Amino acid sequence: MRVGLVKEDIYLEHITDDFHPENPGRLKAIYEMLEEIDGEGLVYVPARPATGGEIALVHEQHYIKMIEETRGRVQTRLDPDTVASAGSFDAACMAVGGLLQLTDATLSGEIDNGFALVRPPGHHAEAGRAMGFCIFNNVAVAARYLEKKHGLTRILIVDFDLHHGNGTQHSFYEDSTVLYISTHQYPYYPGTGWYEETGQGKGKGYTVNVPLAYGMNDADYLYVFKEIVVPVSRLFRPQIVLVSAGFDIHRNDPLGGMAVTERGFAKMTRMLMDLAAHECAGKVLLVLEGGYDICALTNSVKTVIMELRGTPIYTAEDEDGESDAAAKIVSKVKKAVKPYWGEL
Ligand SMILES: [Zn+2]
Repeated sequence: MRVGLVKEDIYLEHITDDFHPENPGRLKAIYEMLEEIDGEGLVYVPARPATGGEIALVHEQHYIKMIEETRGRVQTRLDPDTVASAGSFDAACMAVGGLLQLTDATLSGEIDNGFALVRPPGHHAEAGRAMGFCIFNNVAVAARYLEKKHGLTRILIVDFDLHHGNGTQHSFYEDSTVLYISTHQYPYYPGTGWYEETGQGKGKGYTVNVPLAYGMNDADYLYVFKEIVVPVSRLFRPQIVLVSAGFDIHRNDPLGGMAVTERGFAKMTRMLMDLAAHECAGKVLLVLEGGYDICALTNSVKTVIMELRGTPIYTAEDEDGESDAAAKIVSKVKKAVKPYWGEL
């Protein structure tokens, strides 16, 4: 497999603080790891800055302008958790543009799948405001770009970050062209993502939320993927699979309460690849969201890239069964989506 990767030093120019969990050290460590692994099959796709018009597919003009005005200023606080530094606007435009470049490379057949290793992350960013370490919503802009530029009409976004992707959900809440499926810790930041949030108007049924209890492990996540993520997606028949990949569900993550390991990330990736192979010639693109333990993040990203390339670190092995808590949550999700997707 040819795995497209986006890796640019400009993403290190979005400077928060050393003690801020979302700091340049995250990508620095990932980029160092990439230099140490065998590069066979890895295709570095150059990023470009997304244009104002592309960002405006999701974001309001006044907001884009407000972020642009932070350019060159040492630090601007955008929300209690989110800051812009002098280089943040340019980094954020390149984060969106990096993912757009991957979508083009995938659709042209230059790469089979890919992973945009970018920051700032995106899934909390709303149309008109920054939130939760996010400035522009990378994955949401990419989905709109796939519609406008490439004429796609069925785009799947799977979001396995610890946190609910409120910004992504809101971008497509009344839309049947984008199916958004999120697994996340609940109750937790940002507070959205309950079962009953299933979309509105034409979008009814095209938002699927799996609000998970604290402590879910590999077996629980794989159960949720097998019972919810894959079957709903198969009914939707996506033309491409976009993934908001958050590694803050790792058991060592300082922000999260989940217990996922590298092996779990490998298997989740494998399931998404199998889904994509079946539906859309394997087109699956991941974009980095959270993940705040540097070592766990780096090892997990490496594991995912190895899966994407077809040189897995972990081979198949029987999993322990899911917990009762996970089984209960899955049955509630099934009930919530039944009016739209039938009996799963
Ligand atoms: Zn997160």
